Amino acid sequence: MPDYESVIGLEVHAQLLTKSKMFCSCAASYGDLPGTNVCPVCLGHPGSLPVVNGSAVDMAGCLAAALNCRIHSKSLFARKNYFYPDLPKGYQVSQYESPLAEGGWLTIESGNANKRVGITRVHLEEDAGKSLHEGFRDSSDHTYIDFNRAGVPLIEIVSEPDLRLPEEAYLYLVRLKQILTYLGICSGKMEEGSLRCDVNVSLRPRGSVEMGEKVEIKNLNSFRNAEAALQFEIARQSSLLESGGEIKPETRLYDAEGRRTILMRTKEEADDYRYFPEPDLPPLVLSDEQIQTMCASVPELPHEKKSRYVEEWKLTEKEADILTDDHRLAVYFEQTAAACGDPRTACHWILTEVLSVLKESASGSENFAVGPSALGDLLRRLQEGTVSGKLAKDIFSRMIETGRDAGYFVETMGMVQISSEEELRPIVEKVVTGHPKEAEAFRNGKSKLFGYFVGCVMKETGGKANPKVATRLLHQELKGK
Ligand code: ADP
Ligand code: ZN
Ligand code: MG
Repeated sequence: MPDYESVIGLEVHAQLLTKSKMFCSCAASYGDLPGTNVCPVCLGHPGSLPVVNGSAVDMAGCLAAALNCRIHSKSLFARKNYFYPDLPKGYQVSQYESPLAEGGWLTIESGNANKRVGITRVHLEEDAGKSLHEGFRDSSDHTYIDFNRAGVPLIEIVSEPDLRLPEEAYLYLVRLKQILTYLGICSGKMEEGSLRCDVNVSLRPRGSVEMGEKVEIKNLNSFRNAEAALQFEIARQSSLLESGGEIKPETRLYDAEGRRTILMRTKEEADDYRYFPEPDLPPLVLSDEQIQTMCASVPELPHEKKSRYVEEWKLTEKEADILTDDHRLAVYFEQTAAACGDPRTACHWILTEVLSVLKESASGSENFAVGPSALGDLLRRLQEGTVSGKLAKDIFSRMIETGRDAGYFVETMGMVQISSEEELRPIVEKVVTGHPKEAEAFRNGKSKLFGYFVGCVMKETGGKANPKVATRLLHQELKGK
């Protein structure tokens, strides 16, 4: 596509991990029996009054600070009016003209360069209920509605139209999710609907500053689908333009199976939400002190952790990237490093042994049997030389199987490295005298056979011989005679 440049902006909705809903005290938990977390406020009964959830405000403020936004000392709630069966009140309380925060950015690594993507605004709103079209005996002609989700706090994060390529949109989404999970304010599970995104895309002649008409695409249930939808849409728009057609502003849906977008509605059919200030809620006013607390509550972010690992702990960029990718892994690593006192060993073990186990297990890291202090304890024994690398791996797999700690295998089961020369020398002597032919061949220059002797010593000792000591003694023994 030589003549056109694509321009992309994203709108992301994230459910906040608060205990209760945005304007009432109903539980905001996911997966409860439908229709059990409801009250007059979230069901829109006349006469009920909303009260703002302070934790939701704190979480949104923390995110706004992490995204380098200006947090306003005064913002307003507004009613967005529309009719839909999952919306009991007939309107959604959102923030419209006066959002909580504006004017921030986040950084993505596009190609080899860092790119700043502007954040237009971050605002608070409430979720609607959920229509259940499937899974019931009478689903063929009935739809049920679960109001547990009605009123769950959401934050909307709107980006500037700063993205150019579908791949950049993907990277933006990955980074935003990473920040949300680092802050611990959103589970980031797209499959549970706790993170949702809409993408906007337009084309313009390359070199032009003016933006073309945009198309919004909804119904994207994964980041890769967002990327694929953009690719499809860019191709569709450019062939339309090339054949002399024109792009009309419209909303389209992504059809993941057909890998295409389908028209949902045109601008003429767009909803008119008749926004107006929410009369039942006062302006959201934050003191300077509250705003400062929000800014101070931002934890160490992935890129900050990464540079610390590289500078202080001398990990490679690649290692630090993998460890900081997932917040839980970063925490696991830091706790392991603290427990064993050596970040490099902890890093090495986690990237090889731990990750390979996690990749194979279906349950993932959530209930991984070996906690960071248990792994740290094993690694400390490895560094002290109580166990060899080989033994440590054996002990590690038995720790996973049994849930026991390293101490049990070392102290009770005697899985200890044998480093004492007195103990190892007779074994080495036995191995060498037991294989006279191989010893002869070795002495005549077949140096490859050395590994064979090391293997024999390991076999004799059940893998417990200290390889360094065994090597030294074997050399003496083989040379000496
Ligand atoms: P709307 O009024 O349709 O909601 P907004 O101006 O609020 O549009 O923008 C919504 C999203 O669309 C933002 O993420 C913004 O960056 C993006 N956007 C706006 N104009 C364009 C455009 N011409 N091309 C691509 N994205 C755009
Ligand atoms: Zn409620
Ligand atoms: Mg808008």
